[in-house]
Amino acid sequence: MIDRARRALLVERRTLTSSEVRELHDLGVTATGDLASLAHEVRLAYVGNTVEIEGIVSAKTGGCPEDCHFCSQSAQFATDVKATPFLDYDTLLLAAQETLATGATEFCIVLAVRGPDQRTMDRLLDFIPRLAQATGLQIAVSAGILTSEQASAFAAAGVHRYNHNLETAASFFPEVVTTHSYDERLDTCRLVKANNMELCCGVLLGMGETNEQRLELLGALRDLEPNEVPMNFLNPRRGTPFEHLEHVEPIEALRWIALFRLAMPSVILRYAGGREVTLKQWQELGMTAGINALIVGNYLTTLGRSPAEDISMLHELQMPIGSLSSVL
Ligand code: SF4
Repeated sequence: MIDRARRALLVERRTLTSSEVRELHDLGVTATGDLASLAHEVRLAYVGNTVEIEGIVSAKTGGCPEDCHFCSQSAQFATDVKATPFLDYDTLLLAAQETLATGATEFCIVLAVRGPDQRTMDRLLDFIPRLAQATGLQIAVSAGILTSEQASAFAAAGVHRYNHNLETAASFFPEVVTTHSYDERLDTCRLVKANNMELCCGVLLGMGETNEQRLELLGALRDLEPNEVPMNFLNPRRGTPFEHLEHVEPIEALRWIALFRLAMPSVILRYAGGREVTLKQWQELGMTAGINALIVGNYLTTLGRSPAEDISMLHELQMPIGSLSSVL
């Protein structure tokens, strides 16, 4: 099956069918090395060895009315995250400048909200063009569920990429979130694309979903055709309903990174939250199993390793840092 997948992706230059993706999955965990090796070949053939670096800033932390069971920013759970007001422009500019200094090309402003209210929209629409002009960074936003008008306003303000995650499969979603629906998430993802912004649509593995549901999620992503897929692995947060779950095993994480690359050969596949606690000293292996982008620095409520460690890893792997939009 590996040889057939190699022929399809690298010789015939076609996307794998869903049943071919399933066959690769069915090879099991012992095939992880072969899957990772092929995924690396595919990544180099489709998107080269450049790695895109992004910094994220939490512009409004905590106090979110939604109940995503993995999230310490939900106001419905007794976590140690304190709600903070919207950051002012100067603080965001400082964060953007720090991001720029790491070599990053993308800066994502993230807000813990169900969706942006008018006041939030007004601020973002004011800040985004100024931040882009002051730093030259491409500005991404993650502000929850959008209306059609809000999506077109962000596009007009120059938002380069909008993040809205599916997180998991439709069949598992009710175990994760009850305050909004999977269809609402899909609608926002489609609005992003309809307004010609790049769609960043991530996943969170390790919430108790089955392998079958991971394949279902992969199918939904392939239908959506996002430009970027951040791969998060659950880092259980104290006080959330998922606080007692275990980390994904490193070999399983690598297997799914490779399967995601093989199923979506041209996508920007980004290492996101939870990689440090999941992959530990094996983080380099993900970079040769299909990952071609990183979030550097800290995540929204958890600490990442230092940007210098990631830059040094990329240097050792001889993977240059750059923007990936141009190769898609
Ligand atoms: S994941 Fe986002 S929408 Fe869900 S609770 Fe956390 S901040 Fe709110």
